[in-house]
Amino acid sequence: MGHEGMSRRDFIVKTALGLATAGLGASPVRAANTDPGKSSKIVYRTLGKTHLRIPVVSFGVMNSDSPDLIRKALDMGIKLLDTAHLYLRGNSEKVIGEIIEEKKCRDKVYIATKMFFARDREKQVFSSEGSGKYAGATEGNFAEQLDMSLKRLRTDYVDILYLHNCSGPLMPAFEPMIKAFVKAKESGKVRLIGISTHANEPETIRAAVDAGPWDVVLTSYNFMQDHKEAMKRAIAYAAQKGVGVIAMKTQGGVRLNREKKMEINHEAALKWVLNDSNVCTTIPGITTFDQMDLDFRVMSNLLLSDGENRDLEASSMVSGPLYCQQCRSCISSCLQAVEIPTLMRAYMYAEGYGNLIHAGLTLDSLPAGKGLAACRNCETCTAVCRHGIGIRDRLNFLMTMNATEERSLLS
Ligand code: SF4
Ligand code: SF4
Repeated sequence: MGHEGMSRRDFIVKTALGLATAGLGASPVRAANTDPGKSSKIVYRTLGKTHLRIPVVSFGVMNSDSPDLIRKALDMGIKLLDTAHLYLRGNSEKVIGEIIEEKKCRDKVYIATKMFFARDREKQVFSSEGSGKYAGATEGNFAEQLDMSLKRLRTDYVDILYLHNCSGPLMPAFEPMIKAFVKAKESGKVRLIGISTHANEPETIRAAVDAGPWDVVLTSYNFMQDHKEAMKRAIAYAAQKGVGVIAMKTQGGVRLNREKKMEINHEAALKWVLNDSNVCTTIPGITTFDQMDLDFRVMSNLLLSDGENRDLEASSMVSGPLYCQQCRSCISSCLQAVEIPTLMRAYMYAEGYGNLIHAGLTLDSLPAGKGLAACRNCETCTAVCRHGIGIRDRLNFLMTMNATEERSLLS
C-alpha cells in the first residue's frame, strides 16, 4: 500500500493524538501463540475443530487477479487463497486455477470460494426467485455455480465453500441452502462449509453456529466497528462451539481514505484483529507488493506496540465515522426505502479498495427501485446517517462512476 499524501506519522501528529481515546486500549497487547523470541516464524492457528492449520494472514484475491502477486504469496508461505464465484467476474477463480496448475501445488494450498444468491434484503432472507443479476437460492443454481467455480479453479474440490453475504440470523438457517451445501460436502466437492457475513454479524454468527452444519464463519471484524465488543463475544461463542472464524474487512474498508486524505495504520489494524486469538486467520485484499510485504510482516509478529495502539485510537476518531456500520438505520429516512447500506458498500469497494468491478457487481445486485436509479431521479436527498456519513456525496460519487467509461466496462 503506497503512502501517498499525508504520511501516517504526519497524520497522527496533525490529528487527534493525545485526545480522548476510542476505547481501544493503550497498552501493548501480546497475541496468544506469538513467541517474540521467534519473531521470524510464521504464526499458524487451527481453524475451529477442523484439521486445517493456517498462517494468521491469508490472501483475499478480490481486488486483483495479478498472477505475479499470487505466485509471490504462495512462495512466501500463504496457504489460503480466498475468492468468490463472482469476484472480478470469475477471473479471480480462473487465475488462481492457472497458477495452482502451473505450480503443481494443489495439495499444498487451501482454496476458499463463495456462492452468492438473490435475497430479500428487507426481510433478510434468501429468495428462490432471481433478483437483479443474481440467481435464485435453489439447489439447481447452487450446483451450477459450484461446478463452474471448480472448472475455473481447475480442481475437483474446494477446501472451504461459503454461503456468501448472510446479513441476518434467518439466512444461515435457510434449509434449501443447508441441504445443498451438506450434499456438496458429502459428494467430496467441498471439504468444509461456511457462511460469510458483513451486516448484523453477531446475530448472524450465533445463528450459523446454532444451525449446526457450518464449519466456518467468515466475518467483517475491525477496530472501527461500533459493535466490536458484541463481535468479540459472538466470535468467542463460535470458537467455543468449534466453528472456525476467519476475519475480513480488517482495515475497515479504508485501504485508501480519500475523503480524509489519510491512511490508517494497516499493520496495526490487522494485528488488532489477530490479537483476538479466537480468529484463525485474516484475508486482507492485496493489490500491490508493498501491501503484501506489510501483511507478511504481521504473519510473524502480532505484537501491537504503544505507538500502533495510539495510531488506531487516532484513526478510530477520524476515520471511524466514515466506516459504514451496515446498521440500516438510514433506510427509514429515505422515502423510497432505497438500499443505502448496500450502496455504501459499493462506495467502499470503489473508493476504499479501488475495485470498480466489484462496486459495479454490488450495484447490480439490487432489485429495481432499491438501487442507484431511484436516487438519480430524486431531487432532494432526505437520507440521514446516524454516524454523519455524507450519504448524498457518496451517491453522487457512485452516479459519476456509473456514468463513466470505466463503469461501462463493468456490466
Ligand atoms: S450509512 Fe450510516 S446509518 Fe446507513 S447503514 Fe451506514 S452507518 Fe448505518
Ligand atoms: S437520493 Fe433520494 S432515493 Fe436516494 S437515498 Fe437519498 S432520499 Fe433516498
